[in-house]
Amino acid sequence: MTAVDRQHERVLSTLNADGSRRWLRPKPSRGRFWRKRRAVAWLLIGLFTLLPYLKINGRPVILLDVARREFSLFGGLFYPTDTLLLALFVVGVFLTVFLLTALFGRVWCGWACPQTVYMEFVYRPIERLFGGEPGRTRKRGAWRTPARYAAYLLVSMFLAHTFLAYFVGVEELARWVRRSPAEHPASFLIMASVTALMMFDFCFFREQTCIVACPYGRFQSVLLDRRSLIVAYDPRRGEPRGRAKRAANNVPLPVVAENGTPRERTAGDCVDCFKCVATCPTGIDIRDGLQMECIHCTQCIDACDEVMERLGRPRGLIRYGSQAGVEGERVRRLRPRVVIYPVLLAAVITGIFVALSRIEAADVTVLRGPGLPFNVLPTGEVSNQAIVRVRNRTQAEVGYEVSVPGVEGARVVAVENPLRVAAGALRSEAVSIVMPVEAATQRRTEITVRVTGTDGFTAETPFRFFGTGRAEGGTP
Ligand code: SF4
Ligand code: SF4
Repeated sequence: MTAVDRQHERVLSTLNADGSRRWLRPKPSRGRFWRKRRAVAWLLIGLFTLLPYLKINGRPVILLDVARREFSLFGGLFYPTDTLLLALFVVGVFLTVFLLTALFGRVWCGWACPQTVYMEFVYRPIERLFGGEPGRTRKRGAWRTPARYAAYLLVSMFLAHTFLAYFVGVEELARWVRRSPAEHPASFLIMASVTALMMFDFCFFREQTCIVACPYGRFQSVLLDRRSLIVAYDPRRGEPRGRAKRAANNVPLPVVAENGTPRERTAGDCVDCFKCVATCPTGIDIRDGLQMECIHCTQCIDACDEVMERLGRPRGLIRYGSQAGVEGERVRRLRPRVVIYPVLLAAVITGIFVALSRIEAADVTVLRGPGLPFNVLPTGEVSNQAIVRVRNRTQAEVGYEVSVPGVEGARVVAVENPLRVAAGALRSEAVSIVMPVEAATQRRTEITVRVTGTDGFTAETPFRFFGTGRAEGGTP
């Protein structure tokens, strides 16, 4: 069976025909795209490492504190109760992904996804450092494998700590690191599990994360169209493929000039050298057309360009293009989806700004308390139980006074009024709303509960007060 047959018989590029794992050791092609990707990758790694340390308005730029259920994003503090914002944000992310994919294909996967960035520019270089370049004799030495795994472990630990910093904050993380694991077994377990997960992903599962686990690749058939930018092989130029042939007198076949001067050809430009396959980190052959496994990493472009240059042929047999383009159709970039997505995205972004502008210094909820609908006090006054819940969104402690305006003689009885609420904290207190008997003769009276903060914040919340119903013929 030839290499091509074997290639086509595969169900998955990481599996052999007998179902065993096919370990990929892609040969890096250090061309122009690789150099650009490496610069982007190190920029992103630096950003990912530094972001947890950066602060805006005294808050981390990004802190997703799931345990406390609060999220710091670019100087703002958000809570799970900010449902409208959350919904708009999620819709915005999806629309951005749709738009970017329609325009630039899987540019995220190839250039910015942490899986690709760390795999191709951290873990695989470590593998090559200890094991040697793919395609060459493996470096010998029994110490190399343990040393390689020790390096993987160090990097994975660092990566796991950086990742966790986004969820617990750098101060808390520093406490975890300084204390003995016996003092904080739960957090130590979290740290160890995330490190183990990184090791599993980057040392064992590897490219299979993109091929079988990531849902994004599976959606590409609906997100891409024939005019989206993809990494594509040009079959019109490359086929019929074949080894670089020389004429009988050992003179190379004539070459097509860049300006397209016609030449007589007996074969396409693809010399079937398999360099594009050997360099592919997902183990596929780009010449089979657009495939789900292709993460658009451009390694095959660099590999093929090098071959073409060596043969004196124009670069770009594999290139950034579109399916329609490589099939010789005229490519119009403007199409319905690249108009509809930006319009929807603009609407969502406007919605986010409007929702942000409406966020107040505190969130107030007034709920009916448990127990009897009303009580008649020995003084003859009528009381209702209520729960006042205040979330202080500022960065300083604030006192919140609860009152009932507009009803003469009405008062609020609470253990503490004003309620002191610490910066960023949520506090719920049971209060009694007491009304003079003459104001509570209806079964239901719509009143307003006012919460006034010492920082100038005011919120008024409607509350249905249950009275004796005497005015309607009821009995207390
Ligand atoms: S690297 Fe280029 S020439 Fe070589 S097999 Fe791939 S497409 Fe053909
Ligand atoms: S086919 Fe090319 S662009 Fe796609 S994953 Fe393989 S090397 Fe990267």
